[in-house]
Amino acid sequence: MTTTVNAYATPAAKAPFEKTTIVRCDLKPSDVLIDIRFAGICHSDIHTAREEWGSTTFPLVPGHEIAGVVSEVGSGVTKYQVGDRVGVGCMVDSCRECENCKAGEEQYCLRGNVGTYGGVLDGTPTDGGYSEKIVVDEKYVLGIPEGIELDVAAPLLCAGITLYSPLRHWGAGPGKNVAIVGMGGLGHMGVKIAHALGAEVTVLSQSLSKKEDGERFGADHYYATSDDATFEQLAGTFDLIVNTVSAPLPMDRYLGLLGLDGTIVNVGAPSEPLEVPAFALIPMRRSWAGSMIGGIRETQEMLEFCAEHGLGAEIEVIDASRIDEAYDRVVDSDVRYRFVIDVATMA
Ligand code: NAP
Ligand code: ZN
Repeated sequence: MTTTVNAYATPAAKAPFEKTTIVRCDLKPSDVLIDIRFAGICHSDIHTAREEWGSTTFPLVPGHEIAGVVSEVGSGVTKYQVGDRVGVGCMVDSCRECENCKAGEEQYCLRGNVGTYGGVLDGTPTDGGYSEKIVVDEKYVLGIPEGIELDVAAPLLCAGITLYSPLRHWGAGPGKNVAIVGMGGLGHMGVKIAHALGAEVTVLSQSLSKKEDGERFGADHYYATSDDATFEQLAGTFDLIVNTVSAPLPMDRYLGLLGLDGTIVNVGAPSEPLEVPAFALIPMRRSWAGSMIGGIRETQEMLEFCAEHGLGAEIEVIDASRIDEAYDRVVDSDVRYRFVIDVATMA
């Protein structure tokens, strides 16, 4: 027995999205069935749909920023009840046995986590959140705290945790000078979270066009990277830089902005390689790192943190029929600051 639900899929790389139906399996004892209300559009959905990261299996139903309501629970479920407000992020399973899974870092599962879309679970390819319902093991389901609306919560499940995790890991907080490069979906959450953590926050954006927004999100300073003076003025300034840019940047210029023992963390995932000259790292004992989403426990912690500080994403809610247009606007850096699909428009 299975359930057939409406969804939006792209049939081939760069082909327009089409309304379709997909099948959701019956619940295993530990599964919950979620009625999806909102699904965020992450730039990773676009990289995947356009085959910028290598080959993709089509048809593709993306979506890993899922917020909805539990409508059914399996016989063994203990964490959730029908009616609970819940979210699903980038993964729906992992091996649960390796040292990384045991440490709560399931995103780094040594056998590979199972992606919410584009993965394989129980022999079946996974379909993501651009759909009306999803079935997920309760261990990989997050509770959305009271006080965060579902539409602004959806992007926290990827954009929120992808910034929260490195900001916590590298100690963003009072007395730390933190820069966020790129103020799109990830970047704007980085500004809000770094500010709430108590760090001094600088945005490095291509232009000053979003300066007022950045300041409203909590930025103390805002600079244009199109202006060469920015790199001279800020040389050696930062303890931590989080690079959220989806395209390759001249890393030597950004590394030059780090002070002693400073770290630049790449969360942006361009398809092209990034170049790093050794002499951009050696002076000032600089580090260049990467970070991928966050574990389930830390994602729940991030949601509680956002509720406590009144943080949610800045969103533009769209009908499902407008996914292609939204993709083009994200690629053009014309997103303010996350597109979220109203799943009710799939009916
Ligand atoms: P997004 O909304 O498109 O934001 C990216 C921002 O980067 C843009 O808004 C723009 O900001 C800046 N930018 C874009 N093109 C640029 C260019 N050519 N030169 C300089 N700056 C440019 O994308 P997103 O959803 O935040 O995702 C960002 C990246 O993170 C993507 O590559 C995505 O795949 C990746 N990602 C990684 C993880 C992870 O776990 N590591 C998780 C989710 C997403 P300004 O207009 O302010 O300059
Ligand atoms: Zn994402």
